[in-house]
Amino acid sequence: MVIAIDGPGGVGKTTVTRRLATLLGVDYLDTGATYRAATVAALRSGVGLHDEEAVLEVVQASTITYTDGVIYLNGESVASETRSDEVTQSVTPVSAHPKVRAHIVEIQRKWVEDRGGQAVVEGRDIGTVVFPNAPVKAFLTAAPEIRAARRAGDAEAADQGVAEIVADLERRDHADSTREASPLRKAADAFEIDTSAMGIEEVVATIMGLVSERRADKRPGAC
Ligand code: C5P
Repeated sequence: MVIAIDGPGGVGKTTVTRRLATLLGVDYLDTGATYRAATVAALRSGVGLHDEEAVLEVVQASTITYTDGVIYLNGESVASETRSDEVTQSVTPVSAHPKVRAHIVEIQRKWVEDRGGQAVVEGRDIGTVVFPNAPVKAFLTAAPEIRAARRAGDAEAADQGVAEIVADLERRDHADSTREASPLRKAADAFEIDTSAMGIEEVVATIMGLVSERRADKRPGAC
């Protein structure tokens, strides 16, 4: 089954997703990394990031792959480049283009299909758009100061001050939730988890509980 994990930046989606995948023995997909790789392609080509057709052309001419937690652009690992400040700033306009999203979503769906439909997928629109029929959907939230503190612990944010991290999270939250194409929002049937006062293992256990419930629903004879 597909397990969809959505929510804003800094809630701990990636850590939770990786842990769930290990426990379930399936692969995980960080869809943010696919938008970041598309952004690297656009930046390298020098096209205007607000020019949807030009960005689409560059992205369509690129090969974006994700294997064992590493993102590749045309066969080259761009794992560290995708976490740079420049990419973090530039991913907002790139991921707002509907045609670019449609192309990237196809890559994401194919990736899951190639794994027999078994994966944990994290992002902003997984439960609403990419896999609306996912049997398990979790929407993670946390208070802004908690998210900033968690982000401050990430390697790529190590040289940023907390105020800068808060400002960046707020900027991206606003852009992600107000864009027209696939805005960040909780799917009606997603289970919302406020992780503010929870440790990773508690969040993981809550989602594993949802997985067990779904498995029980599917058992022959279950009503
Ligand atoms: O998760 P991460 O912070 O790496 O995502 C980078 C950006 O990619 C987000 O700020 C958002 O604009 C975009 N994104 C998206 N849809 C997703 C995942 C990420 O628009 N499913």
